[in-house]
Amino acid sequence: MNSRETKGFTLIELMIVVVIIGILAAIAIPKFQDVTESAKYAACRSNLRNIASALTMYAAENNEYPGAFQGHKWRKLDYIPDYVHTELLCPSTATSYRFRITGRDYDFFRIRGWNGSCKRNHGMYRNSVYQP
Ligand SMILES: [Zn+2]
Repeated sequence: MNSRETKGFTLIELMIVVVIIGILAAIAIPKFQDVTESAKYAACRSNLRNIASALTMYAAENNEYPGAFQGHKWRKLDYIPDYVHTELLCPSTATSYRFRITGRDYDFFRIRGWNGSCKRNHGMYRNSVYQP
């Protein structure tokens, strides 16, 4: 038997394998990061929809948006703990959401809705309408 055949892989063969693995990793890792970020984006949009539902339920039961008669300042979700989980955080930044009532008057019928967004620009609500 030729002693060359029993040695296993040559250095060149090993280097080729390492280069191929490196190329595959360079392609795959950015793809995985895209998937992770799009999953966080979807979770954040879901959170924003939950907040929209909570504010709509609050308005339906109380005939006004939360804090409508106390001004247009930004409020955290713990302002309405009975309607939404106050632990809701944007998955990308782990920051909490805020909302504020919009419109020129504090009167419910003249208020156009509310604004809210996450700091990562995953979408926002303007006058209660979601805008990606
Ligand atoms: Zn977000």
